[in-house]
Amino acid sequence: MVLILLGPPGVGKGTQAVRLADELGGAHISTGDLLRAARRDGTELGARAQKYMDAGELVPDQLILDLVREHLAGIDPGAHVLFDGFPRTTAQATGLGDVLERSGRRVDRVVLFEAPDETIVKRLSGRRSCPECGAVYNTFSSPSRVEGTCDRCGGSLVQRPDDAPATVRRRLEVYRDQTEPLVSFYESAGAPFERIRADRSVEEVYADFRGVAEVAG
Ligand code: AMP
Repeated sequence: MVLILLGPPGVGKGTQAVRLADELGGAHISTGDLLRAARRDGTELGARAQKYMDAGELVPDQLILDLVREHLAGIDPGAHVLFDGFPRTTAQATGLGDVLERSGRRVDRVVLFEAPDETIVKRLSGRRSCPECGAVYNTFSSPSRVEGTCDRCGGSLVQRPDDAPATVRRRLEVYRDQTEPLVSFYESAGAPFERIRADRSVEEVYADFRGVAEVAG
């Protein structure tokens, strides 16, 4: 099963994707996580992506498509795949369609997570993540057991630099301009599409998301 999680930054896609991938045993592909890992590892891709990420802009499509293609090649063709934060432009969506087709896969569900901007801005200001294992917490809705420390691996939690208020505003604009058009892209392509209200608790959202995945899978 191939699922695409669409929605603005901070809506909770990553939290939901990690949970479903853990439960189903599938692969969670977050291009944001892959780019942050590339930066940490000091790769050329990481260096090229840095200025875009720091400014809240999108990294060029070709870099992203190469990254996803390379990553997908290492995943068992029968495995469940959850795309989180990808695709973000129509060029990426078209590129993904080609890559999937070549590997005999297709998009089984597109799930749009929706929440008002105020909720998103608040969530992003509370977001903390673990640079070691990528786990994500929120000081308001899903805090770690010990403040500042990752439950999973004991790493020290940090606030992402691009969660600063001015960059958050830019990321939301970029989402509206470049990523939201994917809603009509997928709807008009006839892809199975679901909307989930994400301004609820992690548990409530997950119950709906799990239901969607069960039907799709
Ligand atoms: P995220 O963790 O998904 O919010 O991504 C953080 C940043 O990484 C974004 O603001 C972009 O600069 C970059 N990024 C992540 N995924 C993509 C993508 N699919 N296309 C372009 N840029 C991306």
